[in-house]
Amino acid sequence: MKKWIIGTVLLLIVLAAVMVLRATRLQSPPPLAAAIEPVPLDEDELAQRLAQGLRVATVSDPEGAPDAGPTLLRFHQLLRTLFPNVHAKLQVEQVNNYSLLYTWKGADPSLPPVLLAAHMDVVPIEPGTETQWSHPPFDGVIADGYIWGRGTLDDKSCLMGIMEAVEKLSSEGFEPQRTIYLAFGHDEEIGGKNGATQIAATLQKRGVHLEFTLDEGSAIMQGIIAGIEPPVAAIMAGEKGYITFKLGLKGHGGHSSMPGKDMVVPRLARAITRLDAHPLPPRLTPPVATMLERLAPEMPFAARLMIANRAVFEPLLLQVLSDTPITSALIHTTQAITVFRGGVKDNVLPSEAYALVNYRLLPGDTIERVRQHIVEAIDDDAVEVAPTAEFGNEAPPLSDPSAPQFDVIARSVAQVFPQALISSGIIMATTDNRHYAALRDQAYYFAPFFYRPDDQTRIHGTDERIGVADYANMVRFYRQVITNSSAAR
Ligand SMILES: [Zn+2]
Repeated sequence: MKKWIIGTVLLLIVLAAVMVLRATRLQSPPPLAAAIEPVPLDEDELAQRLAQGLRVATVSDPEGAPDAGPTLLRFHQLLRTLFPNVHAKLQVEQVNNYSLLYTWKGADPSLPPVLLAAHMDVVPIEPGTETQWSHPPFDGVIADGYIWGRGTLDDKSCLMGIMEAVEKLSSEGFEPQRTIYLAFGHDEEIGGKNGATQIAATLQKRGVHLEFTLDEGSAIMQGIIAGIEPPVAAIMAGEKGYITFKLGLKGHGGHSSMPGKDMVVPRLARAITRLDAHPLPPRLTPPVATMLERLAPEMPFAARLMIANRAVFEPLLLQVLSDTPITSALIHTTQAITVFRGGVKDNVLPSEAYALVNYRLLPGDTIERVRQHIVEAIDDDAVEVAPTAEFGNEAPPLSDPSAPQFDVIARSVAQVFPQALISSGIIMATTDNRHYAALRDQAYYFAPFFYRPDDQTRIHGTDERIGVADYANMVRFYRQVITNSSAAR
């Protein structure tokens, strides 16, 4: 055999051995902190207070809920009653009447502040489903080890969990080194325009620059990620943008008995077919790469091999991830053709037709970039391409899943939920967190509740609930975030 053949074969064997070795050596990083003794809390009292918060039906309805304002003010009043220490020691401001901004002044003004966000509004109950609830959604019932009601997961457990932690810490005489803001918007479920946006504007006017923000968006997922046994605390480091484009085509109307060759519906349909055949290219962002690396040790060998040797296998990895809708959404600006309209009567040629295409933007892809993509893909100048005027936003800049600020949250998870793997990623939904994008170094998305398969229908659905013991651990987690982030790093 020629020497060069032997050389090449040997090199390939060595390369394969290195790749296998890297795959077998892939391990979860050691925990950032040891578990701590659970802080003693009266779980029943915590549950009772959360239940009281649920009974104030702070519903955000896109159609405009009756009495929304007075209800929100009643919720403020309840917070004052339930958390006297918070109100004695922190500065509290009503922003744009209904949102709340609490300032817990740090002893060291040179340290950039931290902002813990949550929202006080909830989504309405879908008409016709009221009777399907095991317990009425706004009664604040505690039964079978759970607190039941709208807002128990999204997002009053976060809001009141933060308040409980601050109430307890301030009653113990704790004083933060770093200023801590509690920012509670009142209209997150309808876009946050009057709430978090105004809180952000208030802070910006004061020249505040934040060390990091922590808001809802992800949770401790158990039994959700296929093939991964332990619970996964997914501290997300980005959210997607949102835009819908309208593709419109005008042409000749007329009688259907003499249609001619250039009808608007088939022509627009051809353009849409070309667009559908051209998804935006996949891309691995740092939070998603971190997610894969952190979860890889729990995955089958083939997946470990690809992730451990990403430089070689990235194209294959992207292809595998593209195969299922959930993982595909993590690596793409998704393109969903949702509406196609044209024509009113069976014997009349429509003179116009349009389609709506909804995009969820991967951080880094802009609305303008998507517009160019559409124009190139449809390749028909007659089709007008424009973003719809409704709700749309660019994806806020990504945060760093290996920043020290991430570690503050990860350490808090390790202390309270030692059984959980820590991972990252990006969220598909939008949250109030994006409104603080101009003010912060890093933004993270994580709510410390367990999210199990049967919870998937509960958030924004029927029988939303949280375990009494799980809620107490949320309070313990926020306590750790506050104490861990308080000092200089
Ligand atoms: Zn929410």
